[in-house]
Parts: sequence; C-alpha cells; structure tokens
Amino acid sequence: TISSTPSTRPAALLEDLDRRHVLHPHERGHRSQRRVMVRGQGSTVWDASGREFLDALGGGIWVAQVGHGRQELADAAARQISELAHFTSFFEYGTDKSALLAERLTTLAPAGMDRVFFTCSGSEAVDTALKLARLHHHHRGEPDRNWIIARHYGYHGTTYGSGTATGIPNMQVAVGPNLPHVEKVMPPYPYRPEMYGGQGTTEFLLNELSETIERLGAGNIAAMIGEPVLGGGGVIAPPADYWPRVRELLRSHGILLIADEVITGYGRIGSWFDSAPRGMDADIITTAKGLTSGYVPMGAVLMREEIAASVAGGERDFFHGHTYSGHPVAAAVALANLDIIEKESLLARSLAISEWFRTGLAGAAELPSVGDVRVEGAMAGIELVADKATREPVTDTLALAVADELYETHGVITRNYGPTLVLSPPLVFERAEAERTTSAITEVLGRLD
Ligand code: PLP
Repeated sequence: TISSTPSTRPAALLEDLDRRHVLHPHERGHRSQRRVMVRGQGSTVWDASGREFLDALGGGIWVAQVGHGRQELADAAARQISELAHFTSFFEYGTDKSALLAERLTTLAPAGMDRVFFTCSGSEAVDTALKLARLHHHHRGEPDRNWIIARHYGYHGTTYGSGTATGIPNMQVAVGPNLPHVEKVMPPYPYRPEMYGGQGTTEFLLNELSETIERLGAGNIAAMIGEPVLGGGGVIAPPADYWPRVRELLRSHGILLIADEVITGYGRIGSWFDSAPRGMDADIITTAKGLTSGYVPMGAVLMREEIAASVAGGERDFFHGHTYSGHPVAAAVALANLDIIEKESLLARSLAISEWFRTGLAGAAELPSVGDVRVEGAMAGIELVADKATREPVTDTLALAVADELYETHGVITRNYGPTLVLSPPLVFERAEAERTTSAITEVLGRLD
C-alpha cells in the first residue's frame, strides 16, 4: 500500500511522478533521473530512499542560512497561520508582521535604506527594482531614462525583466528577443585578465562603462544593476576599487545603482549586506533567499526614502505589486529567521566557514585540473580547467560529472555553474562538515588528472 504521506512513499514512485509530471526550473533535458529530497536537519538532508547527504549548497542553492528543520521557524509559521494566514497588503491594507519586518530590515540595512517593498522571489525583486529606477526618474521629470546597464556573467533571475538583465548566455536562448533597453558590460574576472586587453581590470571596465554611458546618452539611462560578488557567474569578487569607482561614475551621471544581494544578503559574506563593504553605496538593494532561509518564499527590495517618495505618495499612485507581497506567514518566518542569525552569530560563522574552506581547499588548488579557488565568506567557486597553463575551461559536462561524483561517492551536495563547482552551505555548517566537503572535493578532483 502507498501511504498518502509523501515522505513515506517509495522513492522510485516519487521519482517517477516527478519525472512525468513536474517541469522543473532549469530542467536539464538529458537527465532522466531526479533526486527527490524529503527531510532535512541542520546541514543534513535525506532523499526519498532514506539516504543521507551533506548539504554543501544551502537547500538547493545559496538559500538555507539557518539550516534545515528549525522548529523555531515552523512554530513562527504555525502561529501566524492560526492568527492570520494571509491578507493582501494592497491599497489601504497592511499586516503587523510585514510592518515589523520592514522596520527590522531598515535597521540592518546600510544607512539611508528606509523603505522596503516585499516580493515572493529574487526575480520579482529585480523586476521591481528595475521599475522603481525608471519610475523614479520619470516622476522627477526625466522620462527618457529607461536604459538599464547590466553585466555579462550576472545572474538576476528568469522573469522577463530580470532574465533580460541576466548575462549568462544559456539562460537567454529560446525565449525570443529580450526586452529592449538593457545593455551589458563586462564584469571583473580577475582570473581571466586577457579579457581586458592588457589594461588593468578596473581601468578597462571604467573605460567600457564610460563609453557605454556616452553611447547611450546619460540622460537615457535609469540604472546599473550588479551583484556585489558574482554568484551564478562563478563566485567572482571584484578588485577593491571596482565598485567605488563605478559608483562615483554613475553618480556623476545621475544613474542609480541597484545592488542585487539575493545571494549575498543576510550573512553569506559575513555582514548583513555585502554591497556597503564593497563600496557600492547602492540606491536600491534586492534580496530574497536568506531572508527566510527558504522556509517560505519571500523577497525584499530595500530603497532610499527618496525613491519611494518619488514613485508613490502625494498625488501619485504606484501600481505594482503581488497578491502575496509582504505575506504575513513569510514575514513572521523572516523575523524568526533573522532572530536565529543574530542569536547564533551566523555572520561570524560565515567568516569561520570561509577560513575552513580556504584551508581545506589549499591542496585542491594545486591540482592540475583546478584553475582558481575563490572563497568569499560562506561560498566558494572552484574553477576547473582542462589546461592549467592556458586556463582553458573544462566542459560543463565534466564539471557536472564532478558534482555527480561528489554526490554519489561522498554523499556531498554541490553544484556546477559552467566550469565552476560551487559551495554555499548553511551558515550553521560545522568545521567537520566543511572538512568533509573539502576533502571529498580534493579526492574527486585528484582522480581527474
Ligand atoms: N538575483 C541573484 C543574484 C540570484 O542569484 C538569483 C537566484 O539565484 C536571483 C536574483 C533570482 O532569484 P529567484 O530564483 O528567487 O527568482
């Protein structure tokens, strides 16, 4: 007999149901077998057959800050569901939890980020930010400021707006033309200096950005969007002078800067938000993922008061929003999640994880198949190469095979983004778990050569 409780159904049946009936986000066509996860505790997850795995990815990817199975979050959700499960915050209504959460976020955010717009995902947060930037200019008498500057290798989501800003090529094929008025520039990629024609990285990029602004016309550009550290592009941090100089250039042309902190927000790199320490001094910050540790979907767009004031208020209506913006259950969970991050000092823990990764991956960095090891807080990118001297990247297929081998042989969950193997564990990761991850990686990569 088959019980109605999904987690007690036979693994093969669940995998078959999934394969036949679910079209997955980022579905990989050539994969016939799907892994069905049913339970999690801390940094450990179990699949439908009962096999145990170490989650070095953070709940699929860059999400589960406080780890799996936290009773505090379950209690917060249950309490809120019995009090008031939902009431749409449109027009004249709001809820207590969304107000409390908005206030809390403004206290954690960089100075001046005094208003919050809630969404259900990172993509919606990015779409909102792009609209806010345009509307801000329009309402202040500059209706031509519509261009958005984004970056190659950037990942901002896959809705039409955020997907157009995304600069990862295979995310953009097969959906027809992108939205107009989005221009891409290069990001810093210190491991590949040949991209910058022999000039210093920041020098080249500043020149490219200046030329782009000149070509489009500063008075036609609303904003630039970028991740403080590229995530899906391969965990790539910029040189220290990059964001401060970009910021200065944009400001001199009246162009807003949107920091996409969907990955870096809420402690992944040792502070609540990573844009301020990188010198972005952003006008708008997009967040999601770690806000609720993924327990329920939620995103938040933080903005300067003057942006909120220009798009809404006085005689002006702001017609943009989602039925579930500021969902009370999500907001209650987010508040409890932020409590845990604070009480358990998880910002500091992300820096400890950084050290454990650095130490543990030092041996792997010497292997012929490893081109570059990049550790930024509690995330790491290990870029694999076919030839260490020429830095020729491995195929995506090979990098995927490495992630598969880690999964099958060591029970460690990682993922490849192109040629880069990515780690992004829960911030409750223990030293022994970090060591298990890095020695598994070193063992598997050692076999490649
Ligand atoms: N922005 C960044 C930097 C991301 O990494 C992601 C997702 O990985 C998104 C936006 C999109 O978020 P979502 O998948 O919740 O729509």
